[in-house]
Order: sequence, then C-alpha cells, then structure tokens
Amino acid sequence: MNTAQDAARDLFRSVTGREPEGVWSAPGRVNLIGEHTDYNDGFVLPFAIPQRTVAVAGLRAEDRIRVVSTFADGAVEVALADLDALFPADAGSAARVPDWAAYPLGVAWALREAAPDAAAQGIDIAIASDVPVGAGLSSSAAIEGATASALNDLWTARLDRTALARVGRRAENEAVGAPTGIMDQMASMLGAPDAAIFLDCRTLDAVRVPVGVAEAGLVILVIDTRVSHTHATGGYRERREACERGAALLGVPSLRDVSVADLDSARRLLDDVTFRRVRHVVTENQRVLDTVRTLREQGARAIGDLLLASHASMRDDFEISVPELDTAVEAARGAGALGARMTGGGFGGAAIALVEQDAVDAVSDAVRDAFSHGGFAAPTVFPVTPAAGARRDA
Ligand code: ADP
Ligand code: MG
Repeated sequence: MNTAQDAARDLFRSVTGREPEGVWSAPGRVNLIGEHTDYNDGFVLPFAIPQRTVAVAGLRAEDRIRVVSTFADGAVEVALADLDALFPADAGSAARVPDWAAYPLGVAWALREAAPDAAAQGIDIAIASDVPVGAGLSSSAAIEGATASALNDLWTARLDRTALARVGRRAENEAVGAPTGIMDQMASMLGAPDAAIFLDCRTLDAVRVPVGVAEAGLVILVIDTRVSHTHATGGYRERREACERGAALLGVPSLRDVSVADLDSARRLLDDVTFRRVRHVVTENQRVLDTVRTLREQGARAIGDLLLASHASMRDDFEISVPELDTAVEAARGAGALGARMTGGGFGGAAIALVEQDAVDAVSDAVRDAFSHGGFAAPTVFPVTPAAGARRDA
C-alpha cells in the first residue's frame, strides 16, 4: 500500500501527460520534548513519523516550474526567472501565489539561493501526502523536505541534509511568512527508525538517540485534536517576541544562555508574563537534556514525568495549550499513560501519550470519551513509531 505515492504519480501524469523521473518523500514529525526552544537556540528531541509527503517530479523543456498537489485545486506555474520577484514575500508579493504553493515554490527559490551553481531547469512537481495537515505533525516540513530532496537531485545541487533543512526553513520563514524554527525540517531530513534526533539548534549538531519504546513494551500514541492551529501564527509570533524581549532584558544573545539556576534573578528583572515565557523555555531546555540522559540510562519507561512537566509548563507558563489538548493529556494520564504532552507549536494540533502496549485501547477510549463529554469533536488517535527521514523512493 502506497497511497500517497500512487496519488502523486497519477496527478503528475494527468497534469503533465508524461511519466515522472523520480519519486522523493519526507516525513512529518512528532516532537518528543523541547517545545518553542528551537528559535531560542536551545535543544529539541523530535522524531520522524511513518506518515510522509511524496513529491513526484520530472524536468521539462521550458524554464518554468509547475507545482500541483492533491491538497489543492489547480496547478500553479511560474517562470524560474520570476521566483526572485516573488520571494522573499512581502505585503506586495504575498498574494501572488496561493498559500500552499509558497511552500514548494519557496523551496525552489531558497534552494537556488543556497546553491547558485545548481543546474536549475524547468520542472514539474506533483505532491500528495498522508501527513495530517495543520495537526502539529509538520506537514509543512514534509512538503518542504520532499520538494527540496527532489530539486536537490534533479538540479544536482549537492546540498547535504542540514543544508536542505535550512532551505526548507528559509522557504517557510521568507516565502510563506511563518516565523518558525529549524526543528521540523531537521527532524524530517535526519529521522531514522527507532531514533529521536537530539538537536542543538544553536550549532545544528544532531545526534540520534534510540527511543526504545517497543523494547520497553510501550507505544507512543498521537491524539490529533483536529483543532487546526493554522490560524495561530499571531500567538506563535507573540511568544517569539516575548522570548526575544526576555533575552534582551536579561542581556543574553538568546534564552539558551539562561540556566535554571538563573531564574530567581531573572524573576526580579522581568514582568510576570515575560518571566513565565522565559521560565518555560529555560526549564524546557533542561527537560530535553534530562530526557536524553534518562533514555540512555533508564529507557523510555522513565521519561513519563518529564513529558507531564513539559505539558504543565506549556499550559501554565507559556500558555499555548487549548482545552482539547489539556483534556487529551488528562484523560490519557487518568487511563494509565506514563506521560503525555501537547506536541508542536500549540493553540491546537496534537498531543502524544506514552502508554503500555496493552493499555492502548483503554487510553484511546478514555480520550474519546473525555472529548465527547467535553463537547469537543472526536479526536483521531493513532500509534507512531520513529521512522526514516527524507529519501528518494524511486
Ligand atoms: P503543520 O505543519 O502542523 O501541518 P502548518 O500550518 O505549518 O501546519 O502547515 C500546513 C500548510 O502547509 C497547509 O495549510 C498547506 O498550505 C501546506 N501543505 C502541507 N502539506 C501540503 C500538501 N500535501 N500539499 C499542499 N500544501 C501542503
Ligand atoms: Mg508546520
């Protein structure tokens, strides 16, 4: 079964009338722990998930780039020479391509900027995905990673995985206009089966850390609340600004440079809201380090309390949770999950829960019941295992 790949191939054929030259894909991700730390130069611990976005592509004679997706009606086509006029997007140019098309076209623009000697030629790209969109599982990094991988090969740009992650981030920041960090793209590019990516967002040093969930007799469940976070760019931006303000007031380049021991003195220098934003980031960085150490020394069974503490910090200090996410975490916990937390940027999206293999049904049912009692739309609950990063499939 390869439904996204089949869908993308069919779409490519029907739009171009040709056979594609290759198939590339990149996964979505779940962040095990380390939320809103990436743009503070801190630590994150995401893993790639089995759900992937597929880009089917082929070069063409005209110097034009055409993108089409099963997600949206109609192909979007621009001259290669016009990419520089479209991006970086400002108020004037933002409206010139549909929102979704700014992801793949922005990747093409950013990749040419990163690899000026690449043999950029006209190209057609058809996209399909089984990553839920807007669920906090980073369908955005998946479309960026799949497109970047296809262009890297067909344009012989020879960028490495970290460089391709940067291309994706630049597209998202400057072509789409979403002020996100580098975590999602690095997870999508570097993911590996049964490993999380321990990433230092300051240096981009990445180490694969075995998660060992199955060996421990456990499962990680995703609880997609189906509350779309895509409207939340404002909240995300506001949190980012609070972090920058906090760092400036504390006289450090970024909150990475503040330790848990510094928090008492930070409290005296900051207003209450800024202090709580800072405290989330500082303690979350420490929780990532603690989680990596715990995984290595004790295994997955021992990280539950760190996940719960992370959720509480996002709910109370960073204030990016929503009732559906809190309900998911509480219901999972009440039904015996070892730990649970919202994952992704917040304001909606998904939570994860670490549960015993034989408690999967009980936890899933408890979460569904709690949503129904709370008057919320039914969540989607499914297991995930750490999976491979971006690759060429054919
Ligand atoms: P998330 O990354 O959590 O899924 P984002 O808001 O960051 O949410 O990214 C979702 C957006 O990315 C969509 O609204 C759409 O514009 C774009 N996108 C994601 N996947 C696809 C796809 N398969 N085809 C077209 N656009 C996509
Ligand atoms: Mg995203």
